[in-house]
Amino acid sequence: MNKEQLWEKFAEVFTKLDLKKGIYAAPGRVNLIGEHTDYNDGFVLPMAIEKEITMLAQLRNDQQVKIYSLDYDKLVEFDLLDLSYDKTNIWVNYLKGVLTELQKVEQQLQGVNLMFTGNIPQGSGLSSSAALEVATALAITDLNNIELNGVEMALLAQRAENNFVGVQCGIMDQYISRLGQKDQALLIDCRSNEYELVPFANPDYQIVICNSKVERGLVDSEYNQRRQECNQAVKFFQAKENSSIQALRDLKLATVEQYKADLPANVYKRAHHVVSENERVLASKEALAQNEMLQFGKLMNASHLSLSRDYEVSCSELDILVEIAQKEGAAGARMTGAGFGGCTVNLVKKEAVAEFTAAIKKEYKKRTNLSADVYVSNPGPGARKL
Ligand code: ADP
Ligand code: MG
Repeated sequence: MNKEQLWEKFAEVFTKLDLKKGIYAAPGRVNLIGEHTDYNDGFVLPMAIEKEITMLAQLRNDQQVKIYSLDYDKLVEFDLLDLSYDKTNIWVNYLKGVLTELQKVEQQLQGVNLMFTGNIPQGSGLSSSAALEVATALAITDLNNIELNGVEMALLAQRAENNFVGVQCGIMDQYISRLGQKDQALLIDCRSNEYELVPFANPDYQIVICNSKVERGLVDSEYNQRRQECNQAVKFFQAKENSSIQALRDLKLATVEQYKADLPANVYKRAHHVVSENERVLASKEALAQNEMLQFGKLMNASHLSLSRDYEVSCSELDILVEIAQKEGAAGARMTGAGFGGCTVNLVKKEAVAEFTAAIKKEYKKRTNLSADVYVSNPGPGARKL
């Protein structure tokens, strides 16, 4: 639907009002490199994708909030003074979480009519949830004249997901959805929360995302175990090397290697992944800044190997997708997101994208009996008023 059609639908759903309104968008994202580094105080390098949540919003004269999900064809209503968790309509909680956090900043929020739709695949690791939160935050702050800068808004959206939805995500998803820019990736320092735009606009290459369609089932338990192993490594190095070591971020690869024999094998492998991955993110930033796409691709390949063998968060389907991609001539291919399913991200010559896509679908189907979805995207813009 285009903008006009969306407003027509909005007029069908809600009573006509003569109050301030606007249309807002916030994108999903793909992490180019830097996996499982965020909770180790490290670096990540995501880009916004050209898939987003679009939200129409208009103030009301009362304290009511009415939200129409176009994709679920469902209207939900509640009072701003009663922001309780919705057990039936889980999607409402992303918006309620943002409203709750905004009420801590600005007590006098006005009621609002909202309608939204999105084309980010849900639950595939492309962060449709952060896009929904950021779109909501942008709409509500704009309509209520609340001044929040980009970082403040991203952090507010993250708190919504942490506190209200109950998902302990880091800052990456909301940061990139809010602060991303066209033809740029975003280097984020997950210790200081500082960020830096990194140019990504080589006309010869394109980012291709392959959705394995494998549900990320194991994530929670395995994730907690990895975090524990990382903590174990930090404690070890604090005792052996330097008590000022706070996180794996503070280690050099040579130090990890030095203690290989003294560490439990799995703890060594986890530390090796995180420390080497941080180095790869920083090297990727340099490669992209120098327009050295082949070098960046090599770093992506090394990242996948490390995630698969050392961090052990891949699965056979993701490994197969990466293997096919590399065979089909991708300059780089790796799993992206937490692992055990979800998507891979690939760096592909633009002229080869069509052939690449067809080959991935065919080979993946042959080997797994699953139908991969493939999305081609350049780094898109971050959240904005349309
Ligand atoms: P991811 O962020 O990786 O896509 P999550 O499980 O964190 O996966 O978030 C997905 C949830 O976000 C969905 O289950 C739904 O509640 C909400 N959501 C995302 N996009 C939409 C949409 N277009 N319409 C309604 N709800 C959506
Ligand atoms: Mg999410």
